[in-house]
Amino acid sequence: MDSKHSKDIAPEQASGKTYDAVIVGSGTCGSTLARELASAGKRVLVLERGKHVALRESFGAIASMIDQIKIEGSGVAAARGVAVGGSTGVYFAVVAYPDLSTFSALGIDLSAELARVRAELPINALPDDMLGVKTLRLRDAALACGHDWIKRDMLVDLAASAHGYAYNAKWKARPYLVEAIGHGADLVSGALVDEVLVEDGMAVGVGFVKREGLRRRRHRVHAKKVVIAAGELATPAMLRAAGLDEIGNRGFFCTPGYAMYGLVPGLAGSDSYVSSMGCDGEDGISLGDANMSRTFHRMMMLGGMKLRHFLPFEQCVGIGIKVADDLGGELTPDGRLRKVLDADVLARLEKGRRDALALFEKMGARHVTDFGLSVAGRVGGLVRIGEHLDADLQTRIGNLHVCDGSVIPDDMKGPPAVTLLCLSRYLAKRLLAEAPGSRDAPEQAGSQTSQYRKVALATA
Ligand SMILES: Cc1cc2nc3c(=O)[nH]c(=O)nc-3n(C[C@H](O)[C@H](O)[C@H](O)COP(=O)(O)OP(=O)(O)OC[C@H]3O[C@@H](n4cnc5c(N)ncnc54)[C@H](O)[C@@H]3O)c2cc1C
Repeated sequence: MDSKHSKDIAPEQASGKTYDAVIVGSGTCGSTLARELASAGKRVLVLERGKHVALRESFGAIASMIDQIKIEGSGVAAARGVAVGGSTGVYFAVVAYPDLSTFSALGIDLSAELARVRAELPINALPDDMLGVKTLRLRDAALACGHDWIKRDMLVDLAASAHGYAYNAKWKARPYLVEAIGHGADLVSGALVDEVLVEDGMAVGVGFVKREGLRRRRHRVHAKKVVIAAGELATPAMLRAAGLDEIGNRGFFCTPGYAMYGLVPGLAGSDSYVSSMGCDGEDGISLGDANMSRTFHRMMMLGGMKLRHFLPFEQCVGIGIKVADDLGGELTPDGRLRKVLDADVLARLEKGRRDALALFEKMGARHVTDFGLSVAGRVGGLVRIGEHLDADLQTRIGNLHVCDGSVIPDDMKGPPAVTLLCLSRYLAKRLLAEAPGSRDAPEQAGSQTSQYRKVALATA
């Protein structure tokens, strides 16, 4: 972060103030909310466990941002970004739009927010000359094999991408945080929140630890509103540990999948935007373009020990396979995710693999390699609007709100960033509309005494 507004404050400075809102997590939702609230004059504190990693596509930067959480029993792991600015430092920038009728059935009208997001953000279909030859070769094979292979809209600034793929052309959350800080918001990075402070059934702040030199020091901060925006992999465990035992009562989905790569002789490929094209079958099987930038490619091949595919980046074409799975499995009491994939999911993964093999054959690819079942896409279903959250995204603990990937309804399984941008603007509007701290504790709220509950950190 190179803005003059980018400096963290010391935890002691935060402890001495009462904020209008403390936001846990500085990703897509945390940064957007902070920007909306701070620009409206609210005193906002953002606590982020990650650090200020340079936003660039190098081995070092990506490796220090990306983190994986295993889903026990399934063989897959879900990725996230842990850094100031959250997962958009490592994401692909593919767009899916929120299903407005699904949200409106839950009492949430996102239409104005979607219009604003579409007007303000760089959302574009990439012209063919930006797709790269690997993507075009795969597209031709997919169309020839009868797939409905379409371009996805992308959160990509075309002007910044004029010479092909550019990491910097992808929209990211961090500049929103910089704007929030410019409007007076405070940020503490390296702050691992592990407590929600609850008094008389109302959230009053959070506790966090921060490494200072060789020591880890504990701090507590107070706020009229607490918003958990720690991401779909951390928030459910945090809410459970705050006393919301019902979180995760229906299990979760994890969109399992894997990637396959083959070498197409004679191809002179270059960096591509991953997932810029693909198809979604009615059987819940999605195939997608898994051609990436050289840096990501090298990291992936090295990580999977695919040495034959490591060097010939120009010829190496990739296909991703993922399938939709039903709710199941459990969030364990100590915050781990566990799920055994059922036979139907495994059968559909195998069908996707065969479909991908047919595409490699069509492209004349050799040395096709398979990373095996290893990747989870979106993980969701643990936190449910209408059941665990009201239309203000508030839990039954008063003034404790949730706004991040964990709350997206089950049937919206596409890339979530645009939906989350809308949802954070929506929540900001709702919070600004009510007098801060005026909310009574909901009737069923828990204890009448102070409860300072520690978060189970296995997934947090
Ligand atoms: C490899 C990859 C590719 C992706 N591609 C796409 C795509 O193409 N399109 C799309 O729409 N989406 C994509 N996504 C998903 C998208 O990036 C996320 O869904 C979105 O950014 C989530 O926003 P969020 O605010 O919910 O969480 P995040 O952006 O993940 O932010 C959560 C923040 O909370 C912090 N945090 C976590 N726990 C704590 C704690 N205890 N204390 C303090 N801070 C904490 C984290 O460090 C993180 O910074 C991708 C994700 C990954 C990992």
